[in-house]
Amino acid sequence: MSFRQLFDPESSTYTYILGDSAHREAVIVDPVRAHIERDLSVLRALETKLVWILETHVHADHVTGAKALKARTGAPTAVSTHCGASGFDRLIDEGEQIAFGDEVLRAIATPGHTPGSTCYLWGDRLLTGDTLLIGGCGRTDFQRGSAEALYDSITRRLFTLPDDTLVYPGHDYHGRRVSTIGEEKATNPRLAGKSRAEFVQIMNELHLPEPKQMGTAVPANLQGGTA
Ligand code: FE
Repeated sequence: MSFRQLFDPESSTYTYILGDSAHREAVIVDPVRAHIERDLSVLRALETKLVWILETHVHADHVTGAKALKARTGAPTAVSTHCGASGFDRLIDEGEQIAFGDEVLRAIATPGHTPGSTCYLWGDRLLTGDTLLIGGCGRTDFQRGSAEALYDSITRRLFTLPDDTLVYPGHDYHGRRVSTIGEEKATNPRLAGKSRAEFVQIMNELHLPEPKQMGTAVPANLQGGTA
């Protein structure tokens, strides 16, 4: 098994490459268009063949490398069926499994940041996209987000996983790389000890600026990015 966490400093996005050692097959989660050469060189170094290109959701802050990686490797692309995206090879729903070699990822539907936001569980590792960040969570004020749905997804789906499940987020803006479900339950300032109403109030009062690339990223990403 191999596991790589790669970073885009422009949008503070994490991309993940998960590899199976028996059959040398890999999946990539949330590739960034600007870094596909780096991702291809990591795959070459691991001597693995890319067999799935996955998205945790339709991103607003960077253009996905999905379509470009597909053009270079032939690997199929996948995103949640609830994203309203076209141009992907597979539309994933709750509980579906994505196989690579002898390994399996399980999709956990976690609407809230966007209706199609999906986490991927691989053994004791959970790739949370923007659903659960270290000490935070994805915003819910655009892309048909819902603070109520996000609270339910985090507390009913993610916080019911074992406390030692490793949380690998889709972004971090402070250089943190990994957390655990137990740590987030105990210390995440938006969630620890917070009721659903308190969480919704926190989310409604964030007043964040729009992401710089939003106007170009969202339409491109609904089509799988640019080739
Ligand atoms: Fe996002």
